[in-house]
Amino acid sequence: MLSEKLLKELNEQVKYELYSANYYLAMAAYCAAQGLNGFVNFFVVQAEEERFHAMKFFNFIIGMGARARILQLDEPKNEYNSLEEVFTLALNHEKFVTGRIYTLMDLAQEEKEHATISFLKWFIDEQVEEEASMSDLLHKVKMLGPQGLYLLDSELAQRTFTPPAK
Ligand code: MG
Repeated sequence: MLSEKLLKELNEQVKYELYSANYYLAMAAYCAAQGLNGFVNFFVVQAEEERFHAMKFFNFIIGMGARARILQLDEPKNEYNSLEEVFTLALNHEKFVTGRIYTLMDLAQEEKEHATISFLKWFIDEQVEEEASMSDLLHKVKMLGPQGLYLLDSELAQRTFTPPAK
């Protein structure tokens, strides 16, 4: 059974994952305004992934027979000055989410809540990928000239969302 403290943090995480989806949609909107449709696709797919993360937490909570709660979301940042700023903030945000997952894991381990520990392992691995992907794109965006950026935009247009089997 989930403790009140752990349940509160898990419900907070549903909120953060939904917030992440909105944050990435706001970034997609900025990219659309710049005519970078591949980047739009990248962030739209990223937002879908975040909603999938939110649903994973939601389903875990109700699956544990606990009470899920949908909390109020802050408005994400909508104004950006450059693609470099977008990816710097995206990477910072993923680092923040990693910190959140670690906090949850610390708490679950403190409480010896093994079902939650097992559930969170997927997210620990996922965050390594999320940070690597944002960091890689930040690096590219910083390095590439207009022509390279055009090619990267075409490449990102190919990204699709496939929910993992497990
Ligand atoms: Mg996430």
